[in-house]
Amino acid sequence: MPFSIIRNDITKVSADAIVNAANSSLLGGGGVDGAIHRAAGPELLAECRTLGGCRTGEAKATKGYRLPCKYVIHTVGPVWEGGGKDERRLLYSCYKNSLALALELGCESIAFPLISAGVYGYPKAEAISVAAEAVSEFLDANEMEVTLVLFDKAAYTISSELYQNITAYIDDKYAESRDDSKSRLAAGNRFLRGFDRRLFKAKSAMADEALEDQAAPAMEPMLMGAAANASLESYISARDESFSQSLLRLIDERGLTDAQTYRKANIDRKLFSKIRSDVNYKPKKQTALAFAIALELDFDETLSLLSKAGYTLSDSLKFDLIIKYFIQNKSYDIFEINRALFAFDQTLIGC
Ligand code: ADP
Repeated sequence: MPFSIIRNDITKVSADAIVNAANSSLLGGGGVDGAIHRAAGPELLAECRTLGGCRTGEAKATKGYRLPCKYVIHTVGPVWEGGGKDERRLLYSCYKNSLALALELGCESIAFPLISAGVYGYPKAEAISVAAEAVSEFLDANEMEVTLVLFDKAAYTISSELYQNITAYIDDKYAESRDDSKSRLAAGNRFLRGFDRRLFKAKSAMADEALEDQAAPAMEPMLMGAAANASLESYISARDESFSQSLLRLIDERGLTDAQTYRKANIDRKLFSKIRSDVNYKPKKQTALAFAIALELDFDETLSLLSKAGYTLSDSLKFDLIIKYFIQNKSYDIFEINRALFAFDQTLIGC
């Protein structure tokens, strides 16, 4: 889970470090700063007093006190003044310097609020893209579990046009799958009615045979069992490529490196190594899908890769339809897909 976006109150998130969007005095304020100080207790302010403030874009660490984290990393975001005052570079530095400090402190996990996007007025969508860019650059070279914690759902949205397109797509497909299931039900009922008649005929025939055949040898079922076992074994051993074999083959075919693939899939290196070394590894559906997206598979290829792990995509599930929408539109940006999943209250992929 290298980079994930969740909705929560950051003071409730356990991580080695949580980041505070502080002001330059480091002596507490409103918003997330106030919430962190309230949850950590007065010792946090006492330690902050010893730090001598902090400049915009820089970061300083304290202990976490009563918070469920070892450290609080205080960073000062830029005030948004329309974008022409170096705001982007300064905000980028907040993430970069906080991550570097967390690494220095030996942290394996860190949680950020959306710095500057409250009272300081940085537009939320742009603030998220700065966060995502800075975090992914850091993760290209380092290992850490990074979480961006959003407080309000509105912070992480997709355009209303995309939202409407996905909603229309889901509605259409739901309607089609309802029609399909109605006609399948009708066909099923027809089949069952026929089946009842066939069963009745078969039962009468069996009763007739049983009367003729009462002394049949008891050995026969056992022999059949041994033969069935042998053929089941050969059937199993002749089974298809596993998920892991398919994935590695697809990576080769596309001329990608392992690292390019797992980063694009937002999957962490350790999980990827597990999949690589265990030929029978069965991933979660979200993981398998993240690889399909990273490899930019078309719909049939996605179904085929999913099937290796025992999954499919159904037109009756909202999650599956959202994924299908993006694949059919050849839109393979995992962060955009996750934003859409988030907007529709679905589990995210790849993390
Ligand atoms: P800034 O002054 O840097 O804009 P704010 O605290 O006003 O800082 O807001 C930064 C972001 O933190 C905003 O997106 C706000 O919604 C969010 N936020 C406020 N309280 C919390 C909290 N308890 N947990 C996580 N995020 C929070």
